[in-house]
Amino acid sequence: MTARADHLAAVHRFARTRLAPAAEDWVQGDAPAPDLFRAAADLGLFGIELPVAAGGLGFDFAHKAAVCATLAAVDFGFAMSVINTQNAALRLHLSAPDLAAHYLPGLLSGQTAACTALTEPGAGTDVAALQTRATQMPDGWVISGQKDWIINARHAGLSIVFAKCGTGDDAAAIGAFAVDLTAPGVTRHGADTGFDQTSLGTGGFTLDAVKLPPEALILPAGTAFLSILTEINGARSYVAAMCCAMLNASIARVATYGQTRHSFGKPLMDHQAWRLTLAQAQTDLAATQTLTDRAVAAITGDDPKAQILAAQAKVHAVQTAQRHLPALLHAMGAEGLRPAHGLTRHLAAVQSAALTDGAIAPLLERVARLSWPVSRPTKD
Ligand SMILES: Cc1cc2nc3c(=O)[nH]c(=O)nc-3n(C[C@H](O)[C@H](O)[C@H](O)COP(=O)(O)OP(=O)(O)OC[C@H]3O[C@@H](n4cnc5c(N)ncnc54)[C@H](O)[C@@H]3O)c2cc1C
Repeated sequence: MTARADHLAAVHRFARTRLAPAAEDWVQGDAPAPDLFRAAADLGLFGIELPVAAGGLGFDFAHKAAVCATLAAVDFGFAMSVINTQNAALRLHLSAPDLAAHYLPGLLSGQTAACTALTEPGAGTDVAALQTRATQMPDGWVISGQKDWIINARHAGLSIVFAKCGTGDDAAAIGAFAVDLTAPGVTRHGADTGFDQTSLGTGGFTLDAVKLPPEALILPAGTAFLSILTEINGARSYVAAMCCAMLNASIARVATYGQTRHSFGKPLMDHQAWRLTLAQAQTDLAATQTLTDRAVAAITGDDPKAQILAAQAKVHAVQTAQRHLPALLHAMGAEGLRPAHGLTRHLAAVQSAALTDGAIAPLLERVARLSWPVSRPTKD
């Protein structure tokens, strides 16, 4: 076995023996216990892509995507919570070595969670419309604004906050700041939804003239927007991998049930009309998994096709899961509604997955633009 395969096997054991028994309660509103995050830290999950010298595991993007899928097969929310902290740790390591020295011990040990905050009450898909503003002072920055729908915002100690710097009002004015969410001037709120996914820790916060030191600016205006667009391509690919994993886990659960539940004198699985639901889901999953694997490989290999493949994979994986999960749940009859089977959790999670890191219509628009660039009028 390779180090990768050993690690993935350990993550799989953790998902089966620790996450699965706890996750049933999260759909009812409980949040994951701190010891689960510490157990995730023991597996190195907050530093998957960080170099070993920086306290990480030194694996590549493809391994991160495989870990995401393994965790999401049990609980998408926990997987996203962990991976958002790891992404912030990686960002600090790459862009702000001094801050990394301060924050990494807490982040890698699972004691401090982190989030990445772009979305605001008035700016979602249209990121460049964000209104959070950072003003430079002689001794650093002062930042004010409001963020909403942010994974981990309920409990994170640190946020990477995207804000417009100075008086600029376009995408080029956007910079990224490391913000201590326990600082004076920060108030936070939860984001409660009809789809309880409390393991996501989704919430928001208001920044009311929060003072930041000069080194809090980790991506200056002019670089931050491009940087987040590149990062989001990766996120689209691992979200696609997570949707495939949720669908795969659901097919497996329903297939097992179909072999034990009897109707009209034989197992459900022996009724042809019943098992076609499974066969159709498995066939569509095979196609979307292939596309997702291509997207993950393209991101890992820095392939120029990564952007279009990531968008296509996310659209296809989300839509495939959205199409099949209700039918799979229905195939279990009333039993499918019990949280223990995970189908209700996956069904809700896929609705969140459809929005995180880019909603479907803007992604399709991206595919169109990359496929058939819009011609611009030229000056004579
Ligand atoms: C569970 C969850 C977790 C999240 N986590 C984070 C996080 O950690 N950090 C963060 O910054 N954000 C996060 N988000 C926010 C997420 O990125 C946004 O929800 C997403 O970008 C869409 O923005 P919106 O919800 O404001 O929808 P809007 O932008 O208002 O769009 C509404 C609808 O209109 C469609 N639409 C928008 N523009 C166009 C267009 N040009 N053409 C056609 N259709 C269009 C969209 O597809 C969507 O269906 C999270 C959201 C959810 C639900």
